[in-house]
Amino acid sequence: MVYRTQVGIIGAGPAGMFLAHLLKNLDIECVILESKSREYVESRVRAGLLEQNTIDIMKGLGLADRLLQEGQVHDGVNLSFEGERLRIPFRELTGGRQIMIYGQREVIKDLTDDWLARQGSLFFASEATRIEGIETSHPTIHFIREGENHTVECEFVAACDGFHGIGRTSLQSGSYSRFSVEYPFSWLGILAEVPPSTDELIYSNHPRGFALHSLRSEKISRLYLQVENDTNLADWPDDRIWEELSQRLATDGWSLQSGPVIEKGLTPMRSHMINHMQSGRLFLAGDAAHIVPPTGGKGMNLAIADVWHLANAVGAFYKKGTDIDLERYSTVALRRVWRAQEFSSFMTDLLHKRDDPGSFNYHLQRSRFRYLRISRHYAASIAENYVGLPLDSL
Ligand SMILES: Cc1cc2nc3c(=O)[nH]c(=O)nc-3n(C[C@H](O)[C@H](O)[C@H](O)COP(=O)(O)OP(=O)(O)OC[C@H]3O[C@@H](n4cnc5c(N)ncnc54)[C@H](O)[C@@H]3O)c2cc1C
Repeated sequence: MVYRTQVGIIGAGPAGMFLAHLLKNLDIECVILESKSREYVESRVRAGLLEQNTIDIMKGLGLADRLLQEGQVHDGVNLSFEGERLRIPFRELTGGRQIMIYGQREVIKDLTDDWLARQGSLFFASEATRIEGIETSHPTIHFIREGENHTVECEFVAACDGFHGIGRTSLQSGSYSRFSVEYPFSWLGILAEVPPSTDELIYSNHPRGFALHSLRSEKISRLYLQVENDTNLADWPDDRIWEELSQRLATDGWSLQSGPVIEKGLTPMRSHMINHMQSGRLFLAGDAAHIVPPTGGKGMNLAIADVWHLANAVGAFYKKGTDIDLERYSTVALRRVWRAQEFSSFMTDLLHKRDDPGSFNYHLQRSRFRYLRISRHYAASIAENYVGLPLDSL
């Protein structure tokens, strides 16, 4: 079967779903292809921190009802070094900007429900296998659904297909360079059925390694531990995880509540980048073009910022007949991505155990925390990056 549309979108993660809604708001048609089932996509436990920009986009699209009811507003974050906690107050340091905690899968459910309720085209279990004609004005996406071959003929292709998708490898060869950094540690993350022991996130640098206490809801906590790269989850029974978290997050007069672990997983810490996110009529957005270590909570927010720029550029093409914004898409989007890479790298270096106490790195980390204790400017710099710089500011 042949489907015809203006924009063919590969991937129904945050980048693909937000792009579809933003385009629909501009009266631009699209078809979304997603290789996994709806159940699979809506059950993936991933990000949970929404920057101010993401909150504003959801409100602007009229998709924030459940977010505003169930999401938790956070006005600050705690950074801890060897048991001493410092709070960074966002609202005060950024002129009122804040973050919200609301799971990525809830965001995806809200966007998908609304999209399907409005009869939007979205094919699950439909794997894009090839993109052709990106140098022409009518590229084609080939895909397979239930063993049958189909095509989407469109005017633009948006590859929102994550790190393992076909978008990046379909860019014209030689049109971009790659950068990658692999960290010598990973995160062991758990989702636990226990009310959070904190109202705001706690990032902790401890001699035993990094720990993070994050939240999902009033009843569900999300916690992470720095572990070795070759870690086997079988070596980490729940009791061991809770014991380690208690030690690494400890501070005077506070204790960590434990509870049943309902999900456990490992996330490698890495950065990947390409320095050009488009070729002809093919545009990449989100993890398809860049991965940041999760320490700054930027991955999902970057994907959404990318497609905000892309939707506006496609909108300008159809409404004003200009392709200047399309030509500038990669340059403009990458400014934010590089800022996020730098900030995520800074947070990773600040908070993780690299060497033993007494080493050069350890002294640098300790010095940064001491400086943070006295410098409003240093704290403000962390705060404004953490809540996200305004969308068109970079
Ligand atoms: C375990 C984990 C924890 C994370 N924690 C955080 C966090 O705390 N904070 C944060 O900000 N970020 C976090 N991230 C990162 C964040 O989840 C991603 O940055 C975000 O999902 C990127 O969205 P995306 O739409 O670009 O890509 P994805 O969410 O990966 O979506 C891509 C979609 O494309 C589909 N697809 C792939 N190939 C094809 C194909 N050939 N045809 C059709 N469909 C295809 C995939 O199935 C997928 O649904 C985490 C990621 C992981 C893996």
